Amino acid sequence: MHTPISFSDDRSFALRQDEADPLRDFRARFHIPRSSDGQEQIYLCGNSLGLQPLRTRDYIEEELEAWAELGVEGHFRARHPWMRYHEFLTRQTAEIVGALPSEVVTMNTLTVNLHLLMVSFYRPTADRYKIIIEEKAFPSDQYAVASQLRVHGFDAATGVVEIPLDSVGRFSTDTVLSTIERYGRESALLLLGGVNYYNGQLFDIETITRAAHDAGVVVGIDCAHAAGNVPLRLHDWEVDFAAWCSYKYLNAGPGSTAGCFVHERHAGSDLPRFAGWWGHDKATRFAMPQQFRPIVGAEGWQLSNPSILPLAALRASLELFEEAGMAALRRKSERMTAYLSFLLDLHPRGDWSVITPSDPAQRGCQLSLRIPENGRRLFDHLSSAHVVCDWREPDVIRIAPVPLYNSYEDVWRFAELFHGYFSSQT
Ligand SMILES: *Cc1c(COP(=O)(O)O)cnc(C)c1O
Repeated sequence: MHTPISFSDDRSFALRQDEADPLRDFRARFHIPRSSDGQEQIYLCGNSLGLQPLRTRDYIEEELEAWAELGVEGHFRARHPWMRYHEFLTRQTAEIVGALPSEVVTMNTLTVNLHLLMVSFYRPTADRYKIIIEEKAFPSDQYAVASQLRVHGFDAATGVVEIPLDSVGRFSTDTVLSTIERYGRESALLLLGGVNYYNGQLFDIETITRAAHDAGVVVGIDCAHAAGNVPLRLHDWEVDFAAWCSYKYLNAGPGSTAGCFVHERHAGSDLPRFAGWWGHDKATRFAMPQQFRPIVGAEGWQLSNPSILPLAALRASLELFEEAGMAALRRKSERMTAYLSFLLDLHPRGDWSVITPSDPAQRGCQLSLRIPENGRRLFDHLSSAHVVCDWREPDVIRIAPVPLYNSYEDVWRFAELFHGYFSSQT
């Protein structure tokens, strides 16, 4: 249920919203980047790289000190022993993606995890080998899928089935379902960006997963733009596997450790997998038996002992998510993005459109603006006024007001600059 919200384009309205915001104190717990003249930037780029929580430095320093003081014994004697460090992230990670604790693990990076999971979950046969993916998916996902096809001896040109975008740059659920209906019998896997990185659209993952399963197709979700942005229920939706990075909405720092999900029903399965010692049964891992016996659950897909410093950064950030709560974050996010949309629509000057769906249930915090003419000039104008957002070829600007650290005032200031640009053009 969405009660209609009434907004005003007054700056004082934005300030009042910030005052009344139950999450307002979180902003002060992040480093907000400044421009060279010392001014705080209007940072609307958390979809690309989330900001650094103040406490991240302490958490990393704690491990540097443990290493300095304890050496190898830090594996057992550090305050957060490195042997089980990834376990300190499990509960909060499970909460964020809607999973059981045994269904998630943090390890590697996103594309690596997609490959490892496809080793297990992409099991093509001669007449069922295609992979369904959305048109213009994130390039890394396209490369990953095409290379998996080739590894199995199939031709990537004929093996990839694309779900087409409609004329306004969105995916309709009907089109997704009809693509599954048409190609399901030849397809072994559907890999979908839970929130599409380009247009910001949140898919109806539950409905799509059910349809794919009915057609005998395994479902993997790339949650890079969904984790920490929208409420997810990967377990209940019966998604087979998922992976996500932690440096976008999850604020764990550039290239930090990624996450993955394997549904409980695959936990004890004998699916083939690439194995390494960290995925081996913890009770006998150090007995170094010859025979690999995987941990039951997502942890059984681990290969190596993880890098502790990025996990420390992730732990610092996940604690903030837990404190704020995904439900409260989502409430603010829906409202703040609706406010952005309201302000943009107020002065319909200039040639631009929003390609992100207007229905809050079909988007996260990001709005993608298509500016067919001279969009790059608008982008440069915004950048020179301290707005950090991003430009996606050929003509899209993505803006992401993030509920943890962005304010209504950020949104208001962005809209002023946006309209100011078009007024100065006429
Ligand atoms: C950000 C992103 C990636 C990046 O992959 P890395 O392996 O973390 O470099 C991949 N896929 C999608 C959909 C993304 O949004």
